[in-house]
Amino acid sequence: MPHPLRSFTRMTLFTVVICSAGVMVTLADAGEDNTLSGSFFPYDSFERLPSTRIEVDGRALSVAFGPGDLGMSRATVLAWVNRCATAVATYFGRLPAPTARLLIVPTAGTGVRGGTTWGYRGAASRILLGREATERQLEQDWVLVHELTHQGFPIVPDEQHWLEEGLATYVEPIARRQIGDLSDEKVWGDLVAGLPKGLPGPGDRGLNRTPTWGRTYWGGAMFYLLADIEIRRRTDNHQGLQDALGALVAAGGNITHRWPVERVLATADGGTGTHVLEEMYDRMKETPETVDLPELWRRLGVVMQGKTVGFDDEAPLASIRRAITATPAGGLVRARMPAAPSASRSR
Ligand SMILES: [Zn+2]
Repeated sequence: MPHPLRSFTRMTLFTVVICSAGVMVTLADAGEDNTLSGSFFPYDSFERLPSTRIEVDGRALSVAFGPGDLGMSRATVLAWVNRCATAVATYFGRLPAPTARLLIVPTAGTGVRGGTTWGYRGAASRILLGREATERQLEQDWVLVHELTHQGFPIVPDEQHWLEEGLATYVEPIARRQIGDLSDEKVWGDLVAGLPKGLPGPGDRGLNRTPTWGRTYWGGAMFYLLADIEIRRRTDNHQGLQDALGALVAAGGNITHRWPVERVLATADGGTGTHVLEEMYDRMKETPETVDLPELWRRLGVVMQGKTVGFDDEAPLASIRRAITATPAGGLVRARMPAAPSASRSR
């Protein structure tokens, strides 16, 4: 997720990564050299930790904590995880993967210090959570929803990494908006501020061939915003990117699989009966396509008012703008967890 205060790296082999902290935390009582914050997900160690299941219609996210204290109760952290799972489930219509793991690793500092997602032995995300983090910081955090969004997209070849990061960048604030945790002003204001970083610069060779930070995160996000608008335009605003992604995860397209990009996009397009994603990918993959963003905001009815945005509901694409962030007609898809966290698989 592109944030001016954070840096990002790409790791190799079945990993999709955002990472900002390099503190090493070990599972002290495991009697083994097993790093909880290294380059790979500690699947075996995770299985030995007590975990709490967060469920949505038979799909489950198992949450475990690494050793160490936090400045708040685990129940508070689990409530936050449950909220983030609800955001992602509401956007995708279900949890992105049938079973998934989430490891919370207490680490030095404050706030959410980093997040990483893997899929090579099952969907798994890890959050490095500062020991001094506050409840307020969790409420404002974007990293966990970003990581859980990664679980809802197959691993694609490195040159299409922008499809993975662009998706998480675009979907995260919308998913949080749809459950009422962000305002429309925040969502569109951040897009107005961020998307210029995704425009092609001199020497750009298209999204597949320009793996810069700006093009990967914000160029990818711009691709999905344009796709969302185009799907809605072609379907008389009855369907959007959300329907495409719902179809993708319903067909098993999640981070535990490595699919060719053509299969990913065709499966997603199948959810809307269009070929918008396939067509846009063909157009933008090797050609720098610039976008007149001020004109796009004008058509959507996003109006800059100093440092904040307002809305023009008479704009030609105003109904599409509203539909993008609207809570789905079926309402929230709520994640649930046991009333009291239950321990399982203790050593
Ligand atoms: Zn990411």
